[in-house]
Amino acid sequence: MIEISDKLVFLDVETTGLYWDRGDRVIEVFMLALSKNGEVAEYETLINPQRRLSKEITAITGLTDADLKNAPVEADVAPAIREFIGMGTPVAHNLPFDLGFLNAMFRRNNLLEVGAAGIDTLAISRELFPRLAIYPDGGGSHRLKNLMYHFGLADAYANAHRAREDVMLLVEVFRRLQDFAAGRSPVVYPDALIYGCPTCGSAMYVTAENGRRVLTCKNQPACQVKLVV
Ligand SMILES: [Zn+2]
Repeated sequence: MIEISDKLVFLDVETTGLYWDRGDRVIEVFMLALSKNGEVAEYETLINPQRRLSKEITAITGLTDADLKNAPVEADVAPAIREFIGMGTPVAHNLPFDLGFLNAMFRRNNLLEVGAAGIDTLAISRELFPRLAIYPDGGGSHRLKNLMYHFGLADAYANAHRAREDVMLLVEVFRRLQDFAAGRSPVVYPDALIYGCPTCGSAMYVTAENGRRVLTCKNQPACQVKLVV
């Protein structure tokens, strides 16, 4: 189900807000290109958005106005970002978000847009795990962080939320999604963990009790299903 092109460009952008079409801008880009011939390349930059960051964005990314003050403005880096992606296939978690911001930047700088044909690990996750269980601190079923817990990657990526860390996690999540889709996954998941509550179909919350994994239906108090798996 997943097409592999000659070059995959795993990417993540941090931004000043959620809306590329309402004045928000990219403040950080990290890209990792993996080519079929084994070539690996990285591109990383901060970008001065020429506007103040909100407290929320600083809290999420750890980036401050001071960090960005001496960073290049987007006109200085947009050509190199576009060139790095080249003819590669972009891969991102919630790809429309990242591409929306990057393409808006490319348009403002008279550069060719990247086509929408990329790989969205969020969409793949939703397809493979229709009611993925929610781990403590996972955020929501298909958040990258929740997939990190789902795939047992938490030890390696506990500090995710800057672009570089998120991309490294993305690569690992992508590989595991591929393995699962191809039936190569070493882990067999209990149905309730990936298809939700056997009674009502809601996603389950994951907790640990006495070293065992407990799944509790999210649909409370209507549904009281609790399973030990
Ligand atoms: Zn239920």
